[in-house]
Amino acid sequence: MSCSLFAPPPLLRLPRLDGSCLYAETAQARPELPPLDETEETDACVVGAGIAGLCAAIELARSGLRVCVLESARIGSGASGRNGGQALGDFACGIEALERRLGPDGAALAWEVSQQALRRLRARIREHAIDCDWRDGAVVVARTASQAERLHAAMRHRQQRYDATQLRWLDGAALRAGLHSERYVGGMLDPLGGQLHPLNYTLGLARAALALGVRIHEHSPVLRLRGPGRPGGAQLLQCPRGRLRARRVLLAGGVVPGLPLRRLRARLLPVASCILATESLGQAVPPAGYAVCDSEFVPDYFRFTSDARLVFGGGAHWRVDRALRDPAERRRRLRRAMLRVFPQWDHVRITHDWGGWIDVSLNRAPDFGRLGPACVYVQGFSGHGLALAGMAGEMAAQALLGGPGACPGFELISRLRHATLPSSRLLRIPIAAFGALSGRILHTS
Ligand SMILES: Cc1cc2nc3c(=O)[nH]c(=O)nc-3n(C[C@H](O)[C@H](O)[C@H](O)COP(=O)(O)OP(=O)(O)OC[C@H]3O[C@@H](n4cnc5c(N)ncnc54)[C@H](O)[C@@H]3O)c2cc1C
Repeated sequence: MSCSLFAPPPLLRLPRLDGSCLYAETAQARPELPPLDETEETDACVVGAGIAGLCAAIELARSGLRVCVLESARIGSGASGRNGGQALGDFACGIEALERRLGPDGAALAWEVSQQALRRLRARIREHAIDCDWRDGAVVVARTASQAERLHAAMRHRQQRYDATQLRWLDGAALRAGLHSERYVGGMLDPLGGQLHPLNYTLGLARAALALGVRIHEHSPVLRLRGPGRPGGAQLLQCPRGRLRARRVLLAGGVVPGLPLRRLRARLLPVASCILATESLGQAVPPAGYAVCDSEFVPDYFRFTSDARLVFGGGAHWRVDRALRDPAERRRRLRRAMLRVFPQWDHVRITHDWGGWIDVSLNRAPDFGRLGPACVYVQGFSGHGLALAGMAGEMAAQALLGGPGACPGFELISRLRHATLPSSRLLRIPIAAFGALSGRILHTS
């Protein structure tokens, strides 16, 4: 079997949303890593140097394998290096959706995977001494009484069924005092969640992988993969200037820029989300140290950095609309959204804005699986992957090392079925929007 990884049809080419990214400007120094420019051999190849790919590479290298990561652009240039920096538990589709699809025992294991994702994230930061501004606490907030009622019921459900005793309710007064915003009437605080500088976290993972002997080739887009279905034999990955033979392959290409294999890509809708950062708010910065995400269908999400800036994200673009083509319009819309939450900061200067593409699956559940005995993939984190993608990478590596059955969490999530979107973008957008609306996210369901 041979698969073309790149060359998406013209309608699916996505505009770059680099803008002026705060994370790129405040990133730690990083080495320039050479592209693959000859024929090499390795025990395991990982496609994609985002959080999922790098965590997988660390896990594979620890088992003694020679590991090579191929990255089409630079480390962290996908969603991992440009996201909202909010580490959240649960899944984008909400555990309730997985209860319906996996039954009570399956859902219990899925919940454990999501909690373990947060614990592993913290452990990695400690173990590899990654300087990424980690701070505890993430809160989902409600704007209306009915949202608050649903959110409170969701919290009780998690406490009772999954023993999630760490979850706490914050009332409107606590939120007003913590956030200096009148907009929210209640919220569910998860002290296990938190916030970080996502690019520095990703670069820290890359440094840990390099220290374990992993080779990383930047500017090495994989154009073709031959032999993923063949048992035992080497698989061949073709880059523009070189090729790699690998006995095991792990695909963690996210959704940007070329989108992985066509049949995988057909299960994802790339959705753009945009973020701004303000100048330092100085003494005006609110005391709450937690990351915040609201309960709207298209949520606002924000946090305050350790140097007192507001990082505020929102909006979801299912199609390449005016705001995506025009950076000034993008900034105007985001600023309007920010002022709805913090009207007092009309005078505050916006110093950075950027965006990124999210790998949304139709049911918002993660999408893992095998393309052959020695080829696995992870994708479809649907905007909820900062913690989960790392766990997915580690689980996929274990599944690759041990074969079917080696990693129950990976096998469980691989059982989830995913609908395929039609290749015509005209049809993809309404179908995906309908799917997302009917699936909703945790805190709105
Ligand atoms: C704007 C934005 C805000 C977000 N906010 C949050 C948040 O606050 N909290 C949260 O939990 N999640 C958030 N997310 C989602 C989260 O960032 C992702 O789920 C997570 O980073 C996915 O990691 P990944 O490693 O799977 O993919 P990526 O980080 O996208 O990495 C994939 C890598 O593969 C490379 N690649 C692709 N194709 C190929 C190829 N053919 N050959 C070689 N390399 C290839 C890409 O260049 C990329 O570097 C956000 C995403 C965006 C875009």
